[in-house]
Amino acid sequence: PNPERDRLLQAYEWTAKFYHFLLKNTEHGKAAMEYLRSRGFNDKVIDQFQIGFAPDRWDTLVQFLTKREFDLSEMEKGGLLSKRHESDDFLDRFRGRVIFPIHDRNGKIIAFAGRILGEGQPKYLNSPESKLFNKSRILYNLHQAKASIRKLRQIVLFEGYGDVISAWEAGVQNGVATMGTSLTESHAALMKTMADEIVICYDGDRAGQAAVMKAISLLEGVGLSVRVSVLIEGLDPDEFIQKYGADRFKRQMIDGAVSTTKFKLIYLKKNHILLEEDGKIAYTKEVLPIIAALPSSTEREVYLRELASELQLSFESLKQDCNEIRQSMQKNM
Ligand code: ATP
Ligand code: MN
Ligand code: MN
Ligand code: MN
Repeated sequence: PNPERDRLLQAYEWTAKFYHFLLKNTEHGKAAMEYLRSRGFNDKVIDQFQIGFAPDRWDTLVQFLTKREFDLSEMEKGGLLSKRHESDDFLDRFRGRVIFPIHDRNGKIIAFAGRILGEGQPKYLNSPESKLFNKSRILYNLHQAKASIRKLRQIVLFEGYGDVISAWEAGVQNGVATMGTSLTESHAALMKTMADEIVICYDGDRAGQAAVMKAISLLEGVGLSVRVSVLIEGLDPDEFIQKYGADRFKRQMIDGAVSTTKFKLIYLKKNHILLEEDGKIAYTKEVLPIIAALPSSTEREVYLRELASELQLSFESLKQDCNEIRQSMQKNM
């Protein structure tokens, strides 16, 4: 038994309800509600994800928690309140922010993320990490996604809150997020206990695509099979859904997610100018070892043929180089 922890969980539960109420039913929440609507979030997902609003005032939550006789210094330790500079007074940690409660896999609220309305820094403010909230073990929305995950044996992995929520609205209910781009070994191990396949659906910007490369090796490392959504125009999944709609998202990004080999070929291509001889050769040197490492000769042939036609090289010469690389790999094993 851990009474301090239980009080904190109780406070999180109340706080989420309070912020959700303020968003939906008060004058304070109006601008936030408009902001959420402008992002395409409907009332149903706002309820489903218990989205809330923390007013831009110093003591809205302080008063609420005081009335319910919570110990304010405990609440500060738990990341709901802050201490006023060089004083014993407490003030609300989240001010003027849309609030996304973060649940553990059993559905208990263990942290909050607060997003600024529109532009500004920091864009997101999180609860501090603690024993309860360890970002490297928590996947956002796992508590709601797990039913669909078990049925499909598949997880769609996103970076952020908005991606998960828009995908849910689009009918993709096996989506979770790492809340940033750093996937860990323990995330991968956790996913392996629930699913066979991961569809990585990270942002289409540079950071997102680079993070895909890392995620692939972590996930394949624990024996999961992996496919990758290739986002276009630097969009993130949320923006893609708002721009092109649910159907196209599901068709193109989920059903149309590509193999990890295909993703690597696409990703590495960006570093080379294929119209120049040097570029062609350098690109080939980078990707042949990836193809050579594939265990199936059919698979190797498929990618070698694609590469040959793309680079206007003969299949035979690529195949010969590929076989040589493969032989030296096997010697080194
Ligand atoms: P939005 O759609 O609301 O603009 P996003 O999810 O697209 O946000 P990204 O910049 O792509 O934001 O970041 C992905 C995720 O990383 C966020 O959803 C959030 O979980 C986390 N994140 C981003 N910036 C911060 C920050 N300053 N502090 C904490 N977490 C952050
Ligand atoms: Mn991003
Ligand atoms: Mn994003
Ligand atoms: Mn976004």
